[in-house]
Order: sequence, then C-alpha cells, then structure tokens
Amino acid sequence: MNLKKLLLTNNECYIANKNKKHIPKGGLLHSTGANNPYLSRYIAPDDGLLGKPSSQHWNQVLAGGRKACVHAFIGKLKDGGVATYQVLPWDMPCWGSGSGSLGPTKNANNNGYLQVEICEDGLNDKDYFDLVYKEAIELFAYWSKKFNWNPLTDIICHSEGHKKGMASNHADVMHWFPKYGKNMDLFRQDVKKEIEQGGEEMAEKVYNTLSECPDYAKPTIKKLIDKKLLNGSSNGLNLTESMLRILVITDRAGLYK
Ligand SMILES: [Zn+2]
Repeated sequence: MNLKKLLLTNNECYIANKNKKHIPKGGLLHSTGANNPYLSRYIAPDDGLLGKPSSQHWNQVLAGGRKACVHAFIGKLKDGGVATYQVLPWDMPCWGSGSGSLGPTKNANNNGYLQVEICEDGLNDKDYFDLVYKEAIELFAYWSKKFNWNPLTDIICHSEGHKKGMASNHADVMHWFPKYGKNMDLFRQDVKKEIEQGGEEMAEKVYNTLSECPDYAKPTIKKLIDKKLLNGSSNGLNLTESMLRILVITDRAGLYK
C-alpha cells in the first residue's frame, strides 16, 4: 500500500468532530461516482505528488458544496501512480454516507466506521481497477489488523450500508466491481487472504498504548511518556516492534536518565 497522509483540516467535518472520538468497529467502502481518477479532485493542497487541486476539493468547509468527508481516498497521483491518502484521523468520526445514520445529521460519535472513497474513472480501465482494488485490499487488511476487525463481517460497501439502513441510497461499489468479476464477498475474502499472507506492511504490529506494549518494553515506554518525550498522535503511540527494540536498547545504554 502506498499510504500517505494529508488531513483535510478545513473541512467542516474535521472542524465539527475535532474533539469527538470513535472506536473504529468496521470499514465502509465507497467509490466516488464521478469520472475523475485524480486525488487532486478531492485533496488539497498539492504536496508535490497530487498536482494542482480542483476548485471543488474537500479541504474547504463544504466539500464540493456538500457536508461530507471520509477517512481516506484511493486514486491517481499527478504522475499516474496510485496511492491511498489518509485525510482524517482514524479515531475521528466522518461524514461519509449522506443522510443515513452514518451521515452528518446523526450522532457521529457512535458511527464507528472507517470510510474510504475510491476515485472512479470511466469504469472501463481494467489496469486502473486492478491497482485501486489491490490498494483497497491492503488498506482494509491494515485497518482490520490495527482495529481487530473480522474482515468477513466488519467490512461493507455503501450499497450494503443502505440495505442495512445506515447509509443513503447509493449503488457504490456494486455498479463497478462486477464489471471485473468482483463483488463484496470476494473483496472480504481477499482482505482475509491478505491478512493471513501478511504482506510486507503487515509484518509489524503497531503498539498504540502502554498496556499493549510487550513487558520488556513497558518500563522504557512508561519512562518516555512520563518525561513527555513520547506523546503519541491522536491515533495513539504508533510504535512498531523495531521502534520498541531501539528505544529499549538506547534506554539500557543510559540515554534517557
Ligand atoms: Zn458512497
């Protein structure tokens, strides 16, 4: 997964939900419904990879004139490569599904779904589909692992969310995936396979709280937190096993007395 981060801090969703936290309990997959595969249609400012943003980008109060924001986008960079951009903190509720219980009008504190939009093209390019499908598999595998989801039960698409009464009446992604022999059941199985096979990025577990850390690392991590050398982001400590080992070794060497 080619994961980047650019938070849409000017979007009304970010402003309204700044101090709201949810615990992600599942993932919801969208596709944009507009023929424009470029991330710069939605994400601004240009970070050098995205290219010049559209005037309808989502890093302004109203996203293309609507109250809307998701946690991530998958689409094309300026150079044609495909990337995933995180645009909201994972622990912030989003406004991804229009009028349903996952939309901006209801109690966003409790929605608990991480939502991603895949930027649609003309729905006629298999190479692009394969790239964004793979990127989505890897994102949902990463989320499932990070938040302990069962990929077979905790992942839905927007059209399934509507059937469950949680989201507005949209067809995504089932107007697109079947063109290339895919559907949500296959998607969920592919996420499960990705988790089991453990791609490169899945190899390292991430520790977000002191209590999650292995015992050998706890005294060091506690010391660093007490000394305010380690604060963590809004998503937690975000420490991998290798980082823990380096911190413990440097602690034993007397660096943090
Ligand atoms: Zn949707």
